[in-house]
Amino acid sequence: MDAKKKIVIDAGHGGDRDPGAVFEERKEKDDNLRLALAVGKILEENGVDVFYTRIDDVYDTPYEKAAMGNEAQADYFVSIHRNAAREPGRGSGTMTLIYGGTKESPEGEETEDRARGLAAQINRELSRAGFTDLGIFERPDLVVLRKTRMPAVLVEAGFIDNPEDNRRFEEQFDELAAAIATGILDTLSGETNQAAQDGMYYMIQTGAYRVRSLAEQQLAELESQGFPGFLVCDGTYCRVRVGAFKNLDNAVRMERELRRKGFPTVMIYERESR
Ligand SMILES: [Zn+2]
Repeated sequence: MDAKKKIVIDAGHGGDRDPGAVFEERKEKDDNLRLALAVGKILEENGVDVFYTRIDDVYDTPYEKAAMGNEAQADYFVSIHRNAAREPGRGSGTMTLIYGGTKESPEGEETEDRARGLAAQINRELSRAGFTDLGIFERPDLVVLRKTRMPAVLVEAGFIDNPEDNRRFEEQFDELAAAIATGILDTLSGETNQAAQDGMYYMIQTGAYRVRSLAEQQLAELESQGFPGFLVCDGTYCRVRVGAFKNLDNAVRMERELRRKGFPTVMIYERESR
């Protein structure tokens, strides 16, 4: 029923021009790609449409990557990186970066709220998997965060210049990928539930008639007693309903009132289709 969700997974850096951070023989671009593909695979297995900015060792500028994401018209842009400290070996743990300001996007401020929400979910899952969560950081200078129109986050999956973090990266690689994917999936399903509830109302149904005139008769009776009634008719039935409430307590109050006046009632919760 819901349109398929689309996520851009961006493996940071790439190609000979941009290996990212380098520590001994280890190049960030390789770790990023491996993790990006693993995260993407889990998302795909869970019904998400995944768009990768790269699936092998190629270079595109951050501007090109942001443009790819914008063209893909995805729900979120998730960039995968590994961190490096100013002094090698001094940093440890995972963190998630967001732009932090109001982006040039149709939804403006809401876009950044959603990015922050996603970052929080990812961090929560990472710490649940046993990684040290360093938190959410605002980085308005990063092109892939600033130039993407959709909510964008950048995950720093541990420090590449820290042998201990690298050991965890290898030993807990599957958990790391699963944590990031779960953070994304939870965010998407939370939004789907929210969207599903939009436009849903409690209504009290007092009758359903095959003959429209009978429904109209009951409607007139309701209206004469001051009830806000209306008809919902399809090919078979004309249903007589009263009120449309977001709040169940208010709907229950109305239902009691109707019963006191002798109307039979059924509580309905559905998209208002007047
Ligand atoms: Zn990086």
